[in-house]
Amino acid sequence: MSLSSPPPDINGLAAALLRDLAAVQASPHSAWGYKRAAAALLQLDEPVESRLQADGTLRKIPHVGPSSTRVILEVIETGGSPTVEQAVAGSPNRRDVERRRGLRRAFLSRAQVVAILNDPRLTGPSVADYRGDFQMHSVWSDGSQTLADIVEEGIRRGYPYSAITDHSHGLAIANGLSMEDLAKQHAEIDQLNARYAGSFRLLKGIEANIRVDGTLDMSRDELALLEIVVAAPHASLRSPLPQTERMLAAVRTPGVHILGHPRGRMYGSRPGVSADWPAVFAAAAESGVAVEIDGDPSRQDIDYQLAAQAMESGCLFALDSDAHGRRDWTFVETAIAHARLAGVPTDRIINTWPLERLLTWAASRGA
Ligand SMILES: [Zn+2]
Repeated sequence: MSLSSPPPDINGLAAALLRDLAAVQASPHSAWGYKRAAAALLQLDEPVESRLQADGTLRKIPHVGPSSTRVILEVIETGGSPTVEQAVAGSPNRRDVERRRGLRRAFLSRAQVVAILNDPRLTGPSVADYRGDFQMHSVWSDGSQTLADIVEEGIRRGYPYSAITDHSHGLAIANGLSMEDLAKQHAEIDQLNARYAGSFRLLKGIEANIRVDGTLDMSRDELALLEIVVAAPHASLRSPLPQTERMLAAVRTPGVHILGHPRGRMYGSRPGVSADWPAVFAAAAESGVAVEIDGDPSRQDIDYQLAAQAMESGCLFALDSDAHGRRDWTFVETAIAHARLAGVPTDRIINTWPLERLLTWAASRGA
């Protein structure tokens, strides 16, 4: 089954208000303090109200100072914060705060993710079903982990496979790989796969950039060198104009396996692509392209609401961490939580498939 709405979330509500308060600070130092407190709340494993003590104080949360704690207590008691509302109402940044408030919808806090993963009423994918990640960045582009780190961490987690998907050459801002470097990377992948044969398989992937016209920054011949192609938008993510054609063109491109972070939204700052999503999902389902739920907490793209629509359209799903370093691998739990909330059946999630099935599907989508 699926839930129509996620569990209540004081952590997310209080974090959002602390971000609002940060936005109206005159001093960069106090803005930084409120932002740090908001981040700590969003990363907290438990509902913040469970830290309330008999004397009405809050058990200490690391990185949350006294003024942030006062706001959190107001939210626990009243469901809002008069302190923040007053500060926002009197601020010249009021408009900007209101705009940002609209850009925090359908994000899950870590406490919600934990609750959703542990909710026995939800029958979707569990962490134990998960076999490998299809969006992973390494030192070859903008990540901090080596390919050997990725293999070791994958094995430690019991994954039989994962794909390495560094940025493609069109994305200079993320140190995208030239075709020459890609060939060198593939040689390193071959060596690792030979060394770990039978215990782990690293797939040759790429995160190709979807240009504004819907074409990719890689040619068909270049895509043919890869086992997993994630196509994702990285520009025109603030335009309110519909970009349905752009996304339709991307999912219909031969050789594309996964539509990565389809919107390109960013928590509290960027709305991402607006499109006729049911039409895009229908085209993805028709092409056999998996729609990604990117678990990076600041992305959560697509979220459980759109995931429910993609499910209706018959889509396959990829649940990925978008990890740039070893500490980011748990981001995948956020993606799993969105899929559970949307009621996505485990069998529709390519990360739960055995390697053989995965490779057969990947080959059928080949360029
Ligand atoms: Zn990306």
